[in-house]
Amino acid sequence: MFYHLFLTTSCNLTCRYCCEEALEESAPFPFRVDLCLPEKFSKLEVLRRFLRSDPDPTLIFYGGEPLLALDELRWLMDHIEARFIMQTNGTLLHLVNRRYLSRFHTILVSIDGRERTTDYFRGEGTFRRVMENLKSLEGFRGELIARMTVMEPLDIFEEVRWLASNEEFPFRSIHWQLNAGFWNDFGRREFRTWLERSYLPGLKKLAEWWVNWMEEKGEVLKLYPFLGVTKSLLEGEPSWMRCGAGHSNYAIQTDGQIIPCPAMWGMEDFYLGSIETSSPHELPKVFPAGTCANCEMLWVCGGRCLYATVTKKWGPSYSLVCQAVRGLVEAILSILARVRHLLSEGVVEWEDFDYLRYNGCEIIP
Ligand code: SF4
Ligand code: SF4
Repeated sequence: MFYHLFLTTSCNLTCRYCCEEALEESAPFPFRVDLCLPEKFSKLEVLRRFLRSDPDPTLIFYGGEPLLALDELRWLMDHIEARFIMQTNGTLLHLVNRRYLSRFHTILVSIDGRERTTDYFRGEGTFRRVMENLKSLEGFRGELIARMTVMEPLDIFEEVRWLASNEEFPFRSIHWQLNAGFWNDFGRREFRTWLERSYLPGLKKLAEWWVNWMEEKGEVLKLYPFLGVTKSLLEGEPSWMRCGAGHSNYAIQTDGQIIPCPAMWGMEDFYLGSIETSSPHELPKVFPAGTCANCEMLWVCGGRCLYATVTKKWGPSYSLVCQAVRGLVEAILSILARVRHLLSEGVVEWEDFDYLRYNGCEIIP
């Protein structure tokens, strides 16, 4: 099982799509929310006991910024047998020494693309701090994933292409998640215009560019939304809630309560147990009912996002997000014959499309 662990609720950045959006959030929330969670996770020994009955645990250090709880992170890595993943903003990576870095399977680092784009969303100077830390990562041999948060006015084609092909630090693994449906912000956004004029055409261009890269270099760049959807279309493999939320990937709050996904922190109606009283194999599975049931894309989309489905923050306008999912699938369908051809010619291999499921990449942005 995969667990996102909130090591701390604190963060050292104030990104536009997180802190700034939270400040604007004034609409009432139709669920009971515990806003008084402890700042730090301290139930280290309890977590160790809980994970003992999971034969194959993966712990994803999460926050806030997990490296603000470095002592706790080190204690857990010293005392728990697990696969370790971290989702970090990258600004404090220089504090982690090689002994710990070498034991990470995957590090997801938040970066939105070029310097001006990343700094626009994440704060002046953030890009440079992250890049300098990445260039001096010593001992890490796992997968490094650039994790973008995507919204207007970002140009998906230009930013992903830059991340993969810049000379300073070319990323081989990139994931992006749409900031859509998380806040009551549809009325103050230009989402529809951006979707139609920028994001959807950008996906088409990016898919072309991705397959061109395969043809020219024999390499499949791990662009996670493309990778996961291509694999599903090639293999006809159906999927449910592709981030794993509520069935294979749970989140543990700083107070030890277990929730289906990290975005649902404090939502008491969705508490599924606690590390003090529950066992990993007894955790309930959560499957939301709703519009997805009749959608022809459900088998490949998986329902996209449990949090957005239950909170319904965008109301009927959420259909635009489904349009983004459709655009992603269509972009991949438009290159699928070329991918099949490359596979049959041995230019790329089937294994090139493999990835660790539930590693923190949601697949469907
Ligand atoms: S495209 Fe929309 S309606 Fe269809 S399965 Fe995905 S989230 Fe559900
Ligand atoms: S996609 Fe939605 S349900 Fe899945 S982890 Fe992200 S916020 Fe949670």
